[in-house]
Amino acid sequence: MTVAKKKPSPPFTEVRRLIKSSSVTRVIDLIGDRSILRVLQEVFAGSHRFESLQKSIGIARNTLANRLLQLVNHRILRRVEYQNNPPRSEYHLTERGRELYGVMLHIDTWERRWSGDMAGPPLIHTLCGHRLEAGLACGKCRKPISAHDMTYLDSPSSGHGVAQRVHKRRARGLHPADDGTSLNVADVLGDWWSSLVLSLTFFGVRRFKDMQETVGIAPNILSSRLAHLTACGILGRRAYQEMPPRYEYRLTEKGLDFYPQNIAMMIWGDRWLSAKKGFASLILKHKPCGAIIVPRTVCRSCGKEITLGDVRTETGVPWAMP
Ligand SMILES: [Zn+2]
Ligand SMILES: [Zn+2]
Repeated sequence: MTVAKKKPSPPFTEVRRLIKSSSVTRVIDLIGDRSILRVLQEVFAGSHRFESLQKSIGIARNTLANRLLQLVNHRILRRVEYQNNPPRSEYHLTERGRELYGVMLHIDTWERRWSGDMAGPPLIHTLCGHRLEAGLACGKCRKPISAHDMTYLDSPSSGHGVAQRVHKRRARGLHPADDGTSLNVADVLGDWWSSLVLSLTFFGVRRFKDMQETVGIAPNILSSRLAHLTACGILGRRAYQEMPPRYEYRLTEKGLDFYPQNIAMMIWGDRWLSAKKGFASLILKHKPCGAIIVPRTVCRSCGKEITLGDVRTETGVPWAMP
């Protein structure tokens, strides 16, 4: 057995503070649900009616009705009546909902790269005509960004305490179909606890005990989520001690690819969920250029920033229509 050299642990009070102030967990509270993510994917791709949504997602009618109601209450979707006798409504994206496009594009890119089970036709970047693969780039030096390139500085804005919500959350079962082959983003982001564990690894918290201490997660829940993320190929396990055996969990390439979604969720959360609109919950510093930045969602083919209206599906349907 190869044993990894022991590295000094990151300061966990600092990580706890950063996770507390980041708006990512607030966004996960809103959209971190398998069915909600599936509904959003379909609405972004142009499906607006209950029947067509139910047909393509294949969930129970009451579950769908409940998720649509949640999205309307969160002002991500709005009802538009298309028939009045009997009354029937379509579900359309609000401005706030459309602004989730960065998150949805990174989800689409991840699924096309890593999952065998894709929803909908490929997306096209109309500015360059290529199939759309979204990436993250520095707003200053324009270089691509990965999780390893960033440092985080606390912002004076106060976040909601993640530790409080950890105690209030009831653990739900994980989706049973996760054998790692047909994994969807919803299988990971759709489980609040898995998302939280993934966020911890982005901040460099890798060991069981450290994770537990940082957010106060119950050991059985943490064990099951680490096993889930490892089985999905998002995390890899490496021994750092032989007697007794102890492991640390590191992001695989597939796991690192979740980083752009995480950042896009934070940017959206800062814009739409913070008390002061657009107030950064976490200040991001790009190590290669040293600048404090807001990362941009860019097209990996042409390098240009992707804006709403520059995307359509390969079948010609405009994407993210209001
Ligand atoms: Zn930079
Ligand atoms: Zn392009």
